[in-house]
Amino acid sequence: MPTVPSNSLLGLTSQELTALVLDAGQPAYRGQQLFDALYRQRIDALGQVSTLPRDYRTRLEENGWRVGLPRISQKFVSSDGTVRYLMALADGETVETVWMPEGDEGEAGDGSEAGDEAEGPGPASFRRATICVSSQMGCAVNCRFCFTALLGVKRNLSAGEIVGQIAAVLRDQGVQPPMQRVNIVFMGMGEPFLNYDNFIKSVQLLVEGVGIPEVRMTVSTAGIVPRILDLGREPVRPKLAISLNASNDALRSEVMPLNRKWNLQELMAAARAFPLRPRERLTFEYVLLEGVNDAPENAREVAELVRGVRAKMNLIPLNSGAELSYRTPTEERVEEFQRILMAAGIPAFVRRPRGRDIFAACGQLKRTVEIRT
Ligand code: SAH
Repeated sequence: MPTVPSNSLLGLTSQELTALVLDAGQPAYRGQQLFDALYRQRIDALGQVSTLPRDYRTRLEENGWRVGLPRISQKFVSSDGTVRYLMALADGETVETVWMPEGDEGEAGDGSEAGDEAEGPGPASFRRATICVSSQMGCAVNCRFCFTALLGVKRNLSAGEIVGQIAAVLRDQGVQPPMQRVNIVFMGMGEPFLNYDNFIKSVQLLVEGVGIPEVRMTVSTAGIVPRILDLGREPVRPKLAISLNASNDALRSEVMPLNRKWNLQELMAAARAFPLRPRERLTFEYVLLEGVNDAPENAREVAELVRGVRAKMNLIPLNSGAELSYRTPTEERVEEFQRILMAAGIPAFVRRPRGRDIFAACGQLKRTVEIRT
């Protein structure tokens, strides 16, 4: 699936930028200056690149080049501090990006690791924060419990549009180094592994350009098995999360039809083969659907499935809505599920929904914009 043609500088690597400046007869170091301005300073117009000669800036603009930062078209602020951004891209389409600031309260509820913080409070009003980024406009994977699935897929996002969402949020939030305080989760709209090349290029730019360490990033997949294998071979890669969401094939094929293409046996084989770094764990996400996949028997099946994998489970009580046929389980039911996993030796966490009042929680993105309720 193509992305839109781009005259955006955001998304180009330092090598590509160097080639661009050399082409114009400029010295090679101008490429690095552009790279720093785009990713480290996060400028939003070429006029702000003060290190570049004015006439070269003008020439870049005359040749049609733009910074390519998405425009923040709407911003919704939750009572829990979560901010949902509606980002306008060059072709007028929009995607959503979520900012989740964290205090010092242990397990975060945002898909990232908790309790592994070495650094103290930072200068801004958050100790650390997580940005949830979209990888596609809509989604082609037809999970029955997800609002984004109702949109279908419109197109892939370019690497520049993925990094751009993060640059725009960091700019808006006034985030200053150390960038170690920022976690990135590729858990917004879309299936990152169906836009693999742009996703992985964005990771490279985030690491080299923005300065966010790869171990501060987590990518979540619905279970595109060949790309799980590819990710394992990447020299620079985020941590991996797999949306499990069911405890056996019959159930998983019902709630995630994608399971008919790659079933649990293939998925778990890929998970087992995934080369973890020292101290790294795989994450499995499990959306709890009342009366469908939340029984004690399901928890026991899950424990069997993941036995022997160095993994943790994130339990996500369904964020429901009128368009979905599923309901959210009671708290007791969720706790029982968690208890069974813990008793089987599997670390299991219940994810607190973030920004549910502004439709920013898991599976809710684009709900208010595209679906009239
Ligand atoms: N396509 C990727 C990335 C999206 S991540 C993936 O499927 O993993 C979004 C996470 O939210 C996934 O774990 C998904 O299972 C979960 N999710 C989707 N819809 C949800 C809903 N309505 N309530 C709670 N979690 C949901």
